[in-house]
Amino acid sequence: MRHGPARGGCDGGGDVLRHGVLLTWRRSDDPGSGPGAWPLPGPGAGAVPLKQGRSLMDWIRLTKSGKDLTGLKGRLIEVTEEELSKHNKKDDCWVCIRGLVYNVSPYMEYHPGGEDELMRAAGSDGTDLFDQVHRWVNYESMLKECLVGRMAVKPVAIVKGILLKSKVPDLPAKEISPSYDWFQTDSLVTIVIYTKQKDMDSESVIVDCQDGCFRAEIIIKDYSYLLHSELSHEIQEDISVRVAEKTGKVEIVLKKKDNISWKYLGHPLENHNSFTEHREKGLYYRKCTLISKVDVTHDTKLYCLMLPPGTHLQVPIGQHVYLKQIVSGTELVKPYTPVLESLHSDSQETQHPHNKYVYVMIKIYHTGLFSPHFDRLQIGDCVSLSSPEGNFKKSQLQDLEELFLLAAGTGFTPMVKILNFALTNITSLRKVKLMFFNKTEGDILWRNQLEQLADKERRFEVEFILSEPTCEWTGKRGRISLPLLSEFIKRSLEDSRVLICICGPAPFTEQGIRLLKDLNFSQEEVHSFTA
Ligand code: FAD
Ligand code: NAP
Repeated sequence: MRHGPARGGCDGGGDVLRHGVLLTWRRSDDPGSGPGAWPLPGPGAGAVPLKQGRSLMDWIRLTKSGKDLTGLKGRLIEVTEEELSKHNKKDDCWVCIRGLVYNVSPYMEYHPGGEDELMRAAGSDGTDLFDQVHRWVNYESMLKECLVGRMAVKPVAIVKGILLKSKVPDLPAKEISPSYDWFQTDSLVTIVIYTKQKDMDSESVIVDCQDGCFRAEIIIKDYSYLLHSELSHEIQEDISVRVAEKTGKVEIVLKKKDNISWKYLGHPLENHNSFTEHREKGLYYRKCTLISKVDVTHDTKLYCLMLPPGTHLQVPIGQHVYLKQIVSGTELVKPYTPVLESLHSDSQETQHPHNKYVYVMIKIYHTGLFSPHFDRLQIGDCVSLSSPEGNFKKSQLQDLEELFLLAAGTGFTPMVKILNFALTNITSLRKVKLMFFNKTEGDILWRNQLEQLADKERRFEVEFILSEPTCEWTGKRGRISLPLLSEFIKRSLEDSRVLICICGPAPFTEQGIRLLKDLNFSQEEVHSFTA
């Protein structure tokens, strides 16, 4: 009963949703995106100020006004490559994304990344360019009133003379393709996945069992193996997952609802038994329940979300998820970086295991689109949460001797799990320093916990820097700068293995990266968190 994977790039399935609110992209030849280039913050950094009356809400209002945004009076046409290429001007700009052609001219002024960014894909297929930046963006919903039609023949992916990389992934060697098997007892069904990977852990396994459907995604480096079936019989709500780290064997145990023998596991659903590049798959969302909301500061709260009983998901350190809600009939999606219940949390001790609960620390911007709506959720309300994404790898902490964390505002969130993991698991670590930039004392997240940790853990040191301190503040003041960094980030030995993590508003991160380069830290020694 062992099964091998179907090969080839399958796009997101019917239940896989791609959602977001911004349509922003950056050239593939931008400094910072090429191999060997210094990592610069992503698209958020390229955001331009929008004119008055050109916010997302204004765009939503325009799309609902009934105005003809395509110029085709609601007709959908078949677009040839030649026709597409003719529409390459600001006031007549068509772009193809995944075979669908949109007239994006009416959207130009509403585009947070600016008109020039959109124009890079004018009259051509912008799919790859778009995917490189925000593959989670819900362009279908955002641009549905701009839909011109479908491509007659798929155009070559050329953006302003740049031939983008083929979408067909270089699949890994056959030897590492996973396979699966299943067996049963009177009460249990066990699905076994042979990943043939030595360093598998339970963070690499995401399982969702809801409404009779079984979906398991196993992340193996940049690839993911998907099992996706409509189960032949009913199961109980809760599932369990075991991972044998040495052999890479993953066991998913389902409890039968009725003690009867299953003749087959189920009917395959979209992309079942496929092994494709992870980024090829769309984001998968499941509904979580808000179970608690606790004030952290005057404008920031810690929210605990409970995953559905049939879900196993652990957000790896340094990774983020997307939260999705419907606001004024439109899906809004924003990324958030899960934290721990507290800085001292230990997975063994907590009553809320990491594979069943997700904690997010969110700052509420009263004039913001997403966060005020999120804060209005009541305990027991539901919110959709995506599978994790992000390019931080635990291996970056391996054998580390000195870890420096530069955080500004909620840019502290990725540092929480990194700090905890490094102090608990990295035996070579001699020193961890956090430099935490905020406006005022009242904005400092988990200040007491940080100070307590610094008191009890001799390897940990924290420095608060305020940009708008009161005159009583005796600590450091100002914004990120060369003098501050050169004083704070010093190798204790010339050949110390060092990592510097940086996260905050995009210009803060950009500035930090530049300064660290000036201080002669190498690209490998710096990890910046961006969109
Ligand atoms: P927005 O609508 O984005 O507005 C935010 C502020 O900017 C408001 O004050 C608004 O008035 C102002 N503004 C908006 N548009 C403009 C404009 N065009 N010109 C001038 N001002 C403008 N945040 C957290 O709190 N916790 C996290 O863990 C976290 N993790 C993140 C992880 C990643 C990978 C990224 C990229 C971001 C993360 N963020 C996090 C930020 C988060 O995704 C949202 O950006 C944040 O919550 C604000 O969203 P919003 O829709 O509420 O506000
Ligand atoms: P904030 O309170 O506005 O600012 C925090 C500190 O950063 C302040 O001292 C502020 O100084 C300083 N700062 C702001 N802009 C700066 C700049 N251009 N140069 C130097 N210093 C600057 O921050 P926030 O509202 O919490 O925002 C946090 C940001 O982090 C958001 O943009 C969020 O998207 C981002 N974030 C990213 C991730 C990720 O993984 N990518 C995760 C979490 C958060 P001033 O008072 O002088 O402005």
